[in-house]
This record gives sequence, structure tokens and C-alpha cells, in this order.
Amino acid sequence: MKTLLSSLFALITLAWGWDLFVAGGPGAGSLPWVVRQEGLYLTGLLSIALMSLAMFLAARPAWLEGPLGGLDRMYRTHKWAGILAVAFGGLHWLIEMSDDVLKALFGRAGRPPKEEFTGLLEALRHPAKDMGEWAIYALLAMLVITLWKRFPYRPWRFLHQGMPVLYLMLVFHAALLAPTDYWNQPVGLLLAALAVGGVYGAVVSLAGRIGRSRRVSGTIAAVERPAPDIVTVRCQLAAGWRGHRPGQFAFITFDPKEGPHPFTIASADNGSRTIDFQIKALGDYTQRLADRLQPGLAVQVEGPYGRFDIARQDPKARQIWVAGGIGITPFLAWLESLQANPGQMPAADLHYCTRDRAADPFVPRLEALCAPLPGLRLHIHGARQGETLNPAMLAARDGARRAEVWFCGPLGLAESLKKGLHDLGQGRFRFHQEAFEMR
Ligand SMILES: Cc1cc2nc3c(=O)[nH]c(=O)nc-3n(C[C@H](O)[C@H](O)[C@H](O)COP(=O)(O)OP(=O)(O)OC[C@H]3O[C@@H](n4cnc5c(N)ncnc54)[C@H](O)[C@@H]3O)c2cc1C
Repeated sequence: MKTLLSSLFALITLAWGWDLFVAGGPGAGSLPWVVRQEGLYLTGLLSIALMSLAMFLAARPAWLEGPLGGLDRMYRTHKWAGILAVAFGGLHWLIEMSDDVLKALFGRAGRPPKEEFTGLLEALRHPAKDMGEWAIYALLAMLVITLWKRFPYRPWRFLHQGMPVLYLMLVFHAALLAPTDYWNQPVGLLLAALAVGGVYGAVVSLAGRIGRSRRVSGTIAAVERPAPDIVTVRCQLAAGWRGHRPGQFAFITFDPKEGPHPFTIASADNGSRTIDFQIKALGDYTQRLADRLQPGLAVQVEGPYGRFDIARQDPKARQIWVAGGIGITPFLAWLESLQANPGQMPAADLHYCTRDRAADPFVPRLEALCAPLPGLRLHIHGARQGETLNPAMLAARDGARRAEVWFCGPLGLAESLKKGLHDLGQGRFRFHQEAFEMR
């Protein structure tokens, strides 16, 4: 994520610098006014470039999962590209508003002349300016509710669906107000290419076609309630389901009014188009879900997505698998997929952190799945039993070898393990993480 965002930042800044210092040169005017004008252009360019990236990623281009590390990571990139775009947009607006201050300090005289437009272009200039201003106010409000985690997800998602419209307003603003000489320069080409990607994302989103080629219908085949806060759902999918790799997830819609929610496919692919989900009551909707599901109910599944894939393991590295609570779901799929060929099982330590090992329905299931796999050591850490996992436990074995940690669980646990392992291992541990949060 950081590499992609910083590369985009560098590319835009270079292209802007090329126009400023090599091609066009700074426009006429005194230094403070020219600095204001170029600051306005640079922040505007960065804002629309990042927003275009965010909009393109929102269309869930599955072919980018490989280079970007899976859809959950693409969504994180989408989120940070959006946040940075709004920050640069806010800066752009502040610079625009600074003209009164400059007039008072340096006078009007050094102000660069406005570009002359005629006809339709001149008529559209004012609406383009206004649209940019309204869009930035709406985006700043959206940023506040995105960062304010207590704002409920459902209304947030409803408001978020307006983003493509705001984006199209910003593209209109940028296309009309960017200096005309940009369109013969690398900066213009870059801007146009990014806008094409962003407009594609916006149109796909407004047309309701995101993920459409990966959507299939199905029915619920079985529902179980292994614990008061967990529901197990088995779905039988229609032809068209392309199968999945163990560890992948899908968006499942049980109720069209509620829309899709992402859940890991907690079973291996046995070719019968039957997939299981283990769903924990973590929020408003999932708390009410168990009472609403019954065999025969129609569902829609979109996927599979994700790169938390057992096949991506480095065979030379020591394997450490860590699951916290419902984060055990991808490992259930991994273990199931290994049952047919226990010989393929790499030597690994699976750590499962649970609140209460005595009452956890996944503990007996894990024990049964691990028993035929000779290379696998299962470690259960029950918090109620006083068995908490710490980084030293992961680092204890085979200290000198390179190790890979595959983690799925709460963010707090991931951060503390990452930090602890980094301190202990000086970077010998490679951390793969499935993000269960997309907002
Ligand atoms: C890749 C991935 C795999 C997951 N696998 C599992 C699993 O196997 N089992 C399991 O129990 N949970 C899983 N989750 C978490 C699950 O998606 C959320 O717990 C569930 O959507 C919460 O919905 P809610 O309305 O009850 O909660 P709310 O309180 O409304 O939301 C809690 C949080 O869940 C996320 N969320 C809610 N609705 C959606 C949505 N429609 N789309 C995306 N994110 C949403 C948001 O981050 C939100 O802040 C997974 C999440 C992701 C991203």
C-alpha cells in the first residue's frame, strides 16, 4: 500500500515539476502569487489522482489482487487513498481561500493573469468551480464520519454510495480548471489516464455492477448454532461458481435490503459447490442473523477473493499460524484441504487464541482436523484459563530459522505480536495478515 501511494505521489509531483521547471515554466507574477498558484495546482493534482485511484479500486478489479496482495489490502489502499485525497483537497481549498490574505499582504499587482476561455468553456468555468467547492465540503464531512469509528456502518455505507457522484463532480472541476498547457505535457497524460480509471470505477459503481461477474445465486443447505454467538451456514451454490482456494472469502447477501457482508469460506473446495461460513455475532446485523437463517433460503454469493492462501507459503520458512477468535475460519479451510493429502502438510505451529477453551466449539473441531496431520502442532490459548499468547512463545522454537507468520484475528493482537516479533527477531519474521475490517 505504502509503495503504491508513495509512487503515485512521486509520479504526480515529478510530472507537475516537469511542467513547472522544464516545459512551461512558472507563469508571470510575483513570487508569493506564483507559489500560491503552483501550490493550488499541485494539491489539486494530488487530490484528484488519489481520488481516481480510490475510485478505481472501489470497482474490485480482481486481477489486481496478485500485485496488491488481496482484496482486503486493496480496500485498505482504497481507504488511505481516499483519506489522503480529501486531505489534499482540503489543502487545495485553503490555498484557494488564501487570496484575500495575499491581497492584503502583497497587493493584487503580482497576481498571475487568469487563463482566457471563450464560449462554452467560459460558461462552464463557474459551475466547475462551484462543483469543486460543494464536493470538497461533502468529502470533508465524509472523512469525519469515516474516521469516527462509532458512526454506525449501515448509514455510513449508504452515504458512501454517493462518492462516485462527488468524484465525477471533481473530475469535471479538474478537467475545466487545470491549466490548458497541461494537456500537452506528461502531467496531462497522467491526469487523463487516472481520470479514465476513476470514471470507470464510478460508472461501474453507479450502475450496481461491482463484482457482477463473480456473483452467483444459491440456497442455504444447513444452519447450525455451535455456540450462542456463532452460526454455521452451509450454502449450495449454482453453476457458475468458479470454486475457491482455502483461505479465500466471499461477500454473501442473505437479505437484499441489508446487502452483502464479507465472510471467509471456512471449508475446503470439494468440487460440489458447497461452501461453509462460520459467522460470529460481532455487530447489529450479525447479532440478529441466526434467527433469520433457515434451510432453503435464497442467497447470493460474490467471490471468491483474497490471498490468504496456503499455496503461497514459503516452503523454506518455518510456519507459524495464529488465529484469534473467529479469525480461525481461514485455518479451518486450510486444515480441511490438507485432510486428503496429509503428506503435503508442512511442519507448522497453529496457535488458536480463544476466550474460554472449555466452551469453544472450534477446539474439538481443530483437534479432530489436526490429529491426522503429523507435522502440525496445535496450541490452544484460553484467556479464561490464563493461557495468553505472547511473541516470545512464537519465537521460542528453532530460533535461527526464517519464519512466516500467517495471522487472522483482532488488530490489537496482530499489532502487539508484530511489534514483539520485530523486537525479538530483527526482521526474521514475515507477517501475512487477513484484515477483517474494510472501513
Ligand atoms: C475479508 C473478511 C473476512 C471476514 N470473515 C469473517 C468470518 O469468517 N466470520 C465472521 O464472523 N466475520 C468475518 N468478517 C467480519 C464480518 O464481515 C463483520 O463482522 C460483519 O460484516 C459485521 O456486520 P454487522 O452489521 O453485524 O456489524 P457492524 O457493527 O455493523 O459492523 C462492524 C464492522 O464490520 C464491518 N462491516 C459491516 N458490514 C460490512 C459490509 N457489508 N461489508 C464490509 N464490512 C462490513 C465494518 O468494518 C464494520 O465497522 C470478515 C470480514 C472481512 C473483511
